[in-house]
Amino acid sequence: MAVPATGAQTSRSVLRLKRGRDRAWWHPWIFKGDVADVSDVAAGSAVTVIDADGRFVGRGFYNPRPALCCRILTRDDEPLDAGFFRRRVSAAVARRAGDGGASRLGRLVWSEGDELPGFIADRYGDVLVVQCLTLGMAASRDALVRALRAAVGDLAVFSMDEPAAARLEGFEAARGWLDRAGPVSEVVHEGAVALRVTFGAGHKTGLYLDQRENRLLAGRLAAGRRVLDVFSYTGGFVCHALRGGAVAAVCLESSPEAIQAARDNFALNDARERARIIDGNAFDNLRRLEREGERFGLIVLDPPPFARRRDALDAAARGYKEVNLRAMRLLAPGGRLLTFSCSHHVSEAAFEEICREAAADAGVTLRIAQRLSQSADHPVLLTVPETRYLKGLLLEAD
Ligand code: SAH
Repeated sequence: MAVPATGAQTSRSVLRLKRGRDRAWWHPWIFKGDVADVSDVAAGSAVTVIDADGRFVGRGFYNPRPALCCRILTRDDEPLDAGFFRRRVSAAVARRAGDGGASRLGRLVWSEGDELPGFIADRYGDVLVVQCLTLGMAASRDALVRALRAAVGDLAVFSMDEPAAARLEGFEAARGWLDRAGPVSEVVHEGAVALRVTFGAGHKTGLYLDQRENRLLAGRLAAGRRVLDVFSYTGGFVCHALRGGAVAAVCLESSPEAIQAARDNFALNDARERARIIDGNAFDNLRRLEREGERFGLIVLDPPPFARRRDALDAAARGYKEVNLRAMRLLAPGGRLLTFSCSHHVSEAAFEEICREAAADAGVTLRIAQRLSQSADHPVLLTVPETRYLKGLLLEAD
C-alpha cells in the first residue's frame, strides 16, 4: 500500500481529546477511546492535539486504523518537518556520545525513549538499520534517514520494519537496502567479543542491543564456571562468558537460524570447543538437564516476551515461573543466575514476585546481588513506564 507523503504540517488537522484524558499531557499515546473528535486528516499525517477546552497539548501522527491512533512527537507548536527530525535525531545521537564504545555499535534512536515514537535506528559498524513502526514514521523515513546521515555520516541504510506493526498500521513493511546496497554482514565488537550481524536475518535489527551491558556483566561473572544460556539466540552471552574464562557452556535455543549464527559466533571467538548447543524447546531441555544431574555455576535466562498482551499475563507468569524454577534447580553451589523479563506488561515488582515464588518452590536460597535493566542507549522516560521494559536480577546461591 502506498504511503502518503507528509509535508510541512498545517495546524488545520485537529484531534480533540475527551475531557479528563489528562495522561496525554505527559504520555505520548492516544487511544481511540481518548478522542472526542478529529478533523478530516489523511492517515499517517500530523494532527494538532488539543484538550477538551481547546488548549494545545502537542502534535503527533494520526492513524485511524490501530487502537493506538496517535503518538505525540512534540509538545511545542512546531511542524513535524525535516528540521524537526534533524533536531530530534541529533539530540538522540548526542545523548549517546559519552556512552563508551557504543559509537560503532548500538542504538542511536529508540522510539518513545528518544521522543521519536515509532522509529528505531541502530548502528552496526558502517551500516544503519532502521525500523518504522507507525504509518507516520514510515512516511517520514527519508527525512529521518537524512537526519541520521547528517549526524553520523553517509552510511548504508537497511530497512527492517516489523511485519506485525506494519500490518496493524496499514503499510507495507520495508525490508532491504534503502538507496544503495551495503555489505551482506558485518562483524561488530562488543567489548572483547566479535559478533556477526547478517542484515535482514534474525530478530530485532540483528542483535538484542538492549542486553549489551548484561552480556558484559556475564563475561565478568563467568571465570571458572560452567555456563548454561537458556534462550541463547546467536550466543552473545556465551561468547562473553567463554571470553571471561568460563570452562564450558551449553546453549538452549530452538531457532535453526539463530543456532547457525551462534555456531559462527563461537568460531569467530575461538570458542567452538567449549560451547555446545542443544537444539529444541528450552522447557523440555531444562527438565532433561535436571534429570541428568547437570549443574551450572552461571545460568542466563533471557526468554522471549511471554506476555505480548496484557490479557496473556497469567500464562506468561506461569511460563516465567516455570523456567526460573527449573534454572534455580540447576544451579551449582555458589552459582549465579542472571534472569530477565522483557515484557513491558510484567512490572519489576511482578517479575521479582515470580522469581520469589520460583525460589520458594525450588527450595533454594538466593540473594539479590543486583537489579538489572536495559542498556543505557535505550533511555527510559520517567512518565512513560513502558520505556523501561527489560527487567533482570542477578541472583546468588551459597
Ligand atoms: N539472550 C539473547 C537473546 C534471546 S531472545 C541475546 O542476548 O542475544 C530469545 C530467544 O529465545 C530467541 O532466539 C528465540 O528463538 C528463543 N526461543 C523462544 N522460545 C523458545 C523455546 N521455547 N525454546 C528454546 N528457544 C526459544
